[in-house]
Amino acid sequence: MKRKKSKAQQKHRNLNNYYNRLMQHAWQNENILSRFQQIELCLMRCESFAELIKVLLNECKTQFELEQVALILLDPHHEIQQQLHNYKFNYQNNFPNLFFHTNNQKLLQLFQNDLSPQLGPYNAALHADLFKQPASTVYSIALLPLTHDDQILGTFILGDSTPERFSEQSATDFLQHLSAVISISINMTISRDRLKHNSLNDALTGINNRRFFDQRLSEEISRCKRLQIPISCLFIDVDNFKHFNDTYGHASGDLVLKQVAGIIRNELRLSDIVGRYGGEEFAILLPDTDHRTAVEIAERIRVSIQKHRYKFDKHMLQVTVSIGIADSQKFADENRTLNEIGNILIAAADKALYKAKNAGRNCIAINE
Ligand code: GH3
Ligand code: MG
Ligand code: MG
Repeated sequence: MKRKKSKAQQKHRNLNNYYNRLMQHAWQNENILSRFQQIELCLMRCESFAELIKVLLNECKTQFELEQVALILLDPHHEIQQQLHNYKFNYQNNFPNLFFHTNNQKLLQLFQNDLSPQLGPYNAALHADLFKQPASTVYSIALLPLTHDDQILGTFILGDSTPERFSEQSATDFLQHLSAVISISINMTISRDRLKHNSLNDALTGINNRRFFDQRLSEEISRCKRLQIPISCLFIDVDNFKHFNDTYGHASGDLVLKQVAGIIRNELRLSDIVGRYGGEEFAILLPDTDHRTAVEIAERIRVSIQKHRYKFDKHMLQVTVSIGIADSQKFADENRTLNEIGNILIAAADKALYKAKNAGRNCIAINE
């Protein structure tokens, strides 16, 4: 009787232990799922690729308590890197574990035609160059494939300090899901950045376009008005450009526009705003610049463009520009809206430009 009772107790204990193990396992899974969901929400909320990089390389590392994380992306034409550069995102210094490859050789070697998460021990022969920082404390790694249209576009690498965390026997469903979410987020943010950049930049010269200029106009006027500092505007137009195109061809004209844009940009401060306003017309906003300084800057730009020679085929070509100058001091104090002040400033610079054209071109003129 006693033995029967202790057998039943033993069975009960075993069942209890089994139940506790199951509960612990379920609790662990719930905990893991919740961490994955939090990261996935952060990834989907990213507005730009730069933001996404921060979530992947900083938040994932902390959230999943990893020793190292790294991101490799295929960028054969340096387009992604250029985009990060356009947005002034200094990834080289801040994210040493972000790598760009020009071909998919290394990625194919890592995945061996199996585009699913690869888990296993850290193998120095295969993985040594996956992390820039020393990986001496990484014992197991998970390689998540990043894809687009079934083509590999990169990998996100998780490195852990224990050999058990990522083993070939581990379940990979959470990681598979994460891998898909990262892939979609990368594609989405890169496309969004490209679209935004293209909508505010001129494809030929690489400088900002009229839309960007118009957007910034009110912002800058508002800022200068608030700080009670002057703001000036220049309108620059290439002289006799129709004739130049007719003589040397459209391609040489394009080359000139690109270089003129570069010269203008070089003569200005980073805080000045330049936009290609029309075909061979550039508009410039000079915040915190009074009338007298604006004249000096305009003259400096005019001389630089006149001095420059544009090498095209066997020709060394030359162009000149006329520049109209206006400043906001005369009308900023009055009871006008920012939009009105902007429109008056532009109209005044345009009027001054016509004055310069009428005065014989290759000169600057001020709107009185
Ligand atoms: P003005 O000194 O009075 O400004 O004379 P202009 O010939 O420069 O002015 P006009 O407005 O008659 O001609 C502008 C020319 O600029 C005509 C057009 O072919 C050229 N142009 C506009 N956009 C581009 C472009 O993107 N590339 C090239 N190559 N030419 C352009
Ligand atoms: Mg013109
Ligand atoms: Mg012109």
